[in-house]
Amino acid sequence: MAYEHEKNVAIAALKAAARLCEQVRHDRGPDAMTKADHSPVTVADFGAQAVICRAIAAIFPNDPVVGEEDATLLQKPAMAERLAQVTRYVHMVDPTATPEQVAAWINRGNGQPSDRFWTLDPIDGTKGYVRGDQYAIALALIEGGQVVLGLMACPALPVDPQQPEGDRGVLFLAARGEGAHALALANEHPHPIRVNAPDSGQPLRLIESVEVDHGDHGRQAAIAQSLGMAEEPIRMDSQAKYGAVARGDADLYLRLPQPASGDRRENIWDHAAGAIVIEEAGGRVTDLFGQPLDFSHGSKLSQNQGIVASNGHIHDRVLAAIRDR
Ligand code: AMP
Ligand code: MG
Repeated sequence: MAYEHEKNVAIAALKAAARLCEQVRHDRGPDAMTKADHSPVTVADFGAQAVICRAIAAIFPNDPVVGEEDATLLQKPAMAERLAQVTRYVHMVDPTATPEQVAAWINRGNGQPSDRFWTLDPIDGTKGYVRGDQYAIALALIEGGQVVLGLMACPALPVDPQQPEGDRGVLFLAARGEGAHALALANEHPHPIRVNAPDSGQPLRLIESVEVDHGDHGRQAAIAQSLGMAEEPIRMDSQAKYGAVARGDADLYLRLPQPASGDRRENIWDHAAGAIVIEEAGGRVTDLFGQPLDFSHGSKLSQNQGIVASNGHIHDRVLAAIRDR
């Protein structure tokens, strides 16, 4: 199998990061700092980025990582106690790690896109994480502008969507051309996943962000209605939405830009892992104009606007509905 070594390193790193994030959430409850762009960041975002960058640096030292976080904020003298807290959580993985090493691992996520690089969101959906809802640890490998491997750990997602109160913690993974798989975070055995088939007999279901700023809920509802989707949308934080479509909990993930967001473009780490998981599960992912997502233009999807991710067979109808509304 292709990328077997990368996949195994990434699975182990994501499982360790997921344990760290759940431990922080258990111990500390919500206590986010605010970054320069006003978005929240927690001890767990930094800890997860440190753990994953450490693992990649050890095995693939020449691979850049383009990650969401860096340690600039944490390295300020006034933040020494925060950095010490992050370091104590990184001790779950490496009991000898020093604050300097932890900051250096986090800053390894400042890499530049190149012919082969990883992109990492150590906590995608930090607002959901702080609220006690869904979040994802998302990691993808990009070669020649194509996502070739994607993984998402979703520690709070029910393992069996039919049993929402049952065991939680799912890892989704996909390598190009090899299908998509899921496994329980507590388990070793991946099983193949597929999007819903056209004849599934189930009503079509929309999934969208919880945060109203992150998608145009009104326009999305109008499109769902025009497609005959009668069910209420599922609202969920993070790239776990891509996993939900990939395993058939939903049929369509819409992320249409809020007019108030201006010309904001999406970050590659918010979509790379999720997109390959849906595509390899038999679905389709484009922007709102039907263009494929273009991961060859740096750290933003600068060539794309909005996200349409579906079970595939409804995709063209969705794009037509978007053109009309
Ligand atoms: P979600 O959990 O799907 O709502 O998305 C979380 C991601 O939304 C974060 O990783 C941010 O990068 C991104 N984000 C922040 N502001 C906006 C915005 N105005 N529109 C769309 N996405 C945003
Ligand atoms: Mg994110």
